[in-house]
Amino acid sequence: MTIRTRFAPSPTGLLHIGGARTALFNFLFSRHHGGEYLLRIEDTDRTRSTPENTAAILDSLAWLGLAHDAPPLFQSTREARHAEVAHALVAAGTAYHCYMSAEELARLRAEAQAEGRQYRVVSPWRDRDAKDAPAGVKPAIRLKAPREGETVVADLVQGEVRVANSELDDMILLRSDGTPTYQHAVVVDDHDMDISHVIRGDDHLTNTFRQVQIFHAMGWPVPRFAHVPMIHGADGAKLSKRHGAQSVTEFRDQGFLPEALCNYLLRLGWAHGDAEILSRDEAIALFDLDGVGRSPGRMDYTRLTQLNGVWIRRADDDRLTAETMQRLAGHPALVLDAEAEQRIRRLMPALKDRAKTLVELADSAHFLAHKRPLPMAPKAAAALTADSREMLRGLAAILAATEFAPEPIDAALRAFAEHHGKKLGEIAQPLRAALTGSTISPGIDAVLIALGRSEALARLAAA
Ligand code: GLU
Repeated sequence: MTIRTRFAPSPTGLLHIGGARTALFNFLFSRHHGGEYLLRIEDTDRTRSTPENTAAILDSLAWLGLAHDAPPLFQSTREARHAEVAHALVAAGTAYHCYMSAEELARLRAEAQAEGRQYRVVSPWRDRDAKDAPAGVKPAIRLKAPREGETVVADLVQGEVRVANSELDDMILLRSDGTPTYQHAVVVDDHDMDISHVIRGDDHLTNTFRQVQIFHAMGWPVPRFAHVPMIHGADGAKLSKRHGAQSVTEFRDQGFLPEALCNYLLRLGWAHGDAEILSRDEAIALFDLDGVGRSPGRMDYTRLTQLNGVWIRRADDDRLTAETMQRLAGHPALVLDAEAEQRIRRLMPALKDRAKTLVELADSAHFLAHKRPLPMAPKAAAALTADSREMLRGLAAILAATEFAPEPIDAALRAFAEHHGKKLGEIAQPLRAALTGSTISPGIDAVLIALGRSEALARLAAA
């Protein structure tokens, strides 16, 4: 069997991390099995779907590196096909035209409520002759759902789940205005896209029973289902604003790398032994549905941030430099020219060692691009006493004649310290203050080399 999966977001908002994880699982599962991963934009809710949301979702998926194998299918373009299938079901006798009016439905519902019964639509038109149809009324199409027996789903994550057919009513497939219902559209599209495995959030489990009934009514093969538990907040409640970021866009803005977010989302709800740090290739090699757990994942922002630090350290320095330049852009006190870029690039191996997010990385690189004079943090200002300024003057004269490479710089600083009977740290701290405006930075040798001779000397002169 060819494995074909799909991710089917509704463009009624940004890509939520729950959706991102669903997309990731679909992607990994199809890649692992040498299959295909497709994308379907479920934009049938015309009032809530927007092109901006669609664009943002596509952008987030591309950023996550989850490339689909065919152009996305827009559900709204398929209404004619959805209608065609509904009519075919009527012709086959597994669906029927229902002429019940909204008033009649409301009356039956109210009656049931008054009697304390749960209401399930029982349309009189299920068994009535079409000849009796009222003139001028456009019918809806309802599924003639089985009344006896059970609908069973052998879910690849949840195990066997079943519902008595008496619990399910004759759902509408096509509304009287000719538009398909969500359940119907999903089934027709999954069939036409030849989807073998439907992997989605377990909030869809109740829909699945209804969808399976439509597959049966059409006599179509039923795909395999895998319902993945939701992502909750650390307190076990549904993930919401108060827990922290939720959309992929927010995580990106907060300086997370796609590798880190994917790695985190993979491990949230899936396990393979104690493997923690997994590259995309490793994930593809290992991922299968039997590793997906049944309990909800709890979002742990601290853990995600730690993982992000790991992925930043693994990331290419040119890429991190470009990210940093982008994040610094627009800051009025900075000069972001090629020279600044080179300074950032030179210091990147040291900077990325300390940063857990790209925001922290950009903050730590800020001083490299700053115009003179640098603003001084209070501790840095305190380090620049009259004595230490005097000392820096002497040091500047030496640095003016030193080659700006690791060994000569190190040797020059040591010789200078020794000559003045000081420890290296006593020299490094005022030097750091003058060069960075702060008392915290990567090693002072690396900072000197990153700035380059002329900028370093100009900063010393300014101090
Ligand atoms: N469009 C649905 C959603 O955004 C997903 C439907 C499905 O995966 O079958 O939740």
